Amino acid sequence: MSKRKPEWAPQNAGEEFASNVVPGSESAKAPRVKRNSKSWDLEALEKGIKEGNRTILARAITLVESNSSRHFEVAQELLTRLLPTSGASVRIGITGVPGVGKSSFIERFGLYLISQGKKVAVLAVDPSSSISRGSILGDKTRMEELSRSESSFIRPSPAAGVLGGVARKTRESIVLCEAAGYDVILIETVGVGQSEITVRSMVDFFLLMQITGAGDELQGIKKGIMELADLIVVNKADGDNLQRAEISTREYNNALHYIRHATKGWQTKAQTCSAKTGAGIADIWATILDFSTMTTASGVFRQRRLSQTSAWFEDLLTEAVLNNFYNKPSIKQKLPAVRKLVSEGELPVAYAVAKLLEAAE
Ligand code: GDP
Repeated sequence: MSKRKPEWAPQNAGEEFASNVVPGSESAKAPRVKRNSKSWDLEALEKGIKEGNRTILARAITLVESNSSRHFEVAQELLTRLLPTSGASVRIGITGVPGVGKSSFIERFGLYLISQGKKVAVLAVDPSSSISRGSILGDKTRMEELSRSESSFIRPSPAAGVLGGVARKTRESIVLCEAAGYDVILIETVGVGQSEITVRSMVDFFLLMQITGAGDELQGIKKGIMELADLIVVNKADGDNLQRAEISTREYNNALHYIRHATKGWQTKAQTCSAKTGAGIADIWATILDFSTMTTASGVFRQRRLSQTSAWFEDLLTEAVLNNFYNKPSIKQKLPAVRKLVSEGELPVAYAVAKLLEAAE
C-alpha cells in the first residue's frame, strides 16, 4: 500500500489527488469514467457505485477526498444523488492502541462477516498521518487476505489533514460505500484521544480493543474512553495468555457496572477474542446483532443516526461559512495587513474582526 497519485488523476493535478491507494483495487477492465478538470461523468460514477464496482467506488472516494474546491461541487452532487440509497449498513468503530491487534482483528472479523454473506468496507480515520508524515494505520502490510476478497473494500485514511477534514471525508466515504451495497462498515482509528470521539460521532457501535497486561490494565485505560464503548474486546486470548485475558475481561465487566454507558438502554460489556485463532469472533458479531436489534426496537439506533447527521450538517455549515469568508478576494487582500496590525497591537482585535466581516459583505 503506497502513497501515490492514481493514474487516472489529471496529469497536472497537484497534492489534492495524493492519496493512499490499495494496490489492486483499480482493475484494468473497469469502465472509464470521463473526466477532465471541469466535467466529471456523474452518471457513470453514480451507476458504477450502485452496481458495486469497486474501482469506481475508489475513484469516487478519491473525488470526495480531494481538497480542491472544483471537486467539492462534483463530489457533493454525487453524494446528493446517492444519499437516498445510503444508510442501510451497520457502522462499527474500532479503536485501540497500536499493537493491540486491530488489523488482525479486522481481517478475521471481516472474513467471518463475508462468510455470513456480508459485504464489508473498511475505512480509517488517522489524522496522525499529517503529523508523523507516515500513517500509523497504513504503513504495514495489512489485512492481505481480506483485501483479496471480492466482498471487501479497504480504504486507508485520507492522506494528511486536520482531524475535522479527515472526518468529513470519511463520513462521505461511508455514504458512498453504503450506496455500493456494503452492509458492514468498519471504521478503524488509532487510540489517540480526539480521533476516537470523532469516530464515535459517525458510527452506530463502538468497539474498544484491549490486551491484557500485568493485572493493572484497568488503571491504564481512561474512563472517558470506556464511556464511549459499546463493547470492550480483550484480544490475544490464546495460548499462555488465555487465562489472563479471561481474568481481565471479568475485571472490565465489573468496572463497567460503575460507568456511564455509551448507548441508552445498552449495557456495555467486555468479551475475549483471539484474532489469531478466531475464538470469540462469532460472539462479537452476535453481540453487535443484539445491539442492533435492541436499539432499533427502542428507536435509539435511528435517533443516534439523526443526531449524527444534524451534527455533520452543523460541521459542514461551519466549514462552508469559513471557506466562503477566507476565499473572498477582499478578505484575501486585506487579511495579511489586518493580521499584522493586530499582532503589533495597533488595532483592537474585536474591531479588526468587525471590519473584516464588513469587508466580506
Ligand atoms: P494493530 O497495530 O492494532 O493493527 O495490531 P496488529 O493487528 O498489527 O497486531 C500486532 C501484533 O499482535 C502482530 O504481531 C499480530 O500478529 C499480533 N496479534 C494480533 N492479534 C493477535 C491475537 O489474537 N493473538 C496473538 N497471539 N497475537 C495477535
